[in-house]
Amino acid sequence: MTKLIFTTRLLFILLSILSTSNIISQPRLVCITNLDSTITTDVKYSTTNNFTGQVLYSSNKVYFVPEVAEAIIKVNNYLKTKYKLQIKIFDGYRPLSVQKKMWEIYPDERYVANPVKGSRHNRGCAVDLTLVDMNGKELDMGTAYDDFSEKSHINYKNLPPHVLKNRRILIETMKMFGFIPNKTEWWHFDYRDWKKYPILDVPID
Ligand SMILES: [Zn+2]
Repeated sequence: MTKLIFTTRLLFILLSILSTSNIISQPRLVCITNLDSTITTDVKYSTTNNFTGQVLYSSNKVYFVPEVAEAIIKVNNYLKTKYKLQIKIFDGYRPLSVQKKMWEIYPDERYVANPVKGSRHNRGCAVDLTLVDMNGKELDMGTAYDDFSEKSHINYKNLPPHVLKNRRILIETMKMFGFIPNKTEWWHFDYRDWKKYPILDVPID
């Protein structure tokens, strides 16, 4: 009897946690370029041209949860209107199995999230991106994507003024639409409500 009461109580506690935590259990993932064809992508993880030297994705399509995709489209529209610039995306949603592979190759938490905790990329809530002009030419951001050096840190100031300006435009615009910059990677941003979404391991195709 005591055991039954205990189990019922535990169940009740678990249910109350679930109902108040506001977690979206099975979020949909949407392909960003299907929603805004002016957004360009360069998914290096679908090629061997990345820090692992291996093809990690079977497709070069970039997915996010719908709320994040909407915010990214707003960023792109704002940049077009205000600066005559656009975005180019390197990465979005990343299956947990790929995170594990990356961690095996590069176990440094400054640049690769430990798969035990999961990355915000695994929730469809992080984006790696840069700025391009209206002809698609990348702006100078001081380093290449996935340059795991101090030069990629956002408080690294020993850079030419035009580079600092380009980084400032990207960071300020992303913040306006709900994204949090990453200290060690100028290209990486997390969406503010990432906690609402679970870690996923749905393959990309
Ligand atoms: Zn990232």
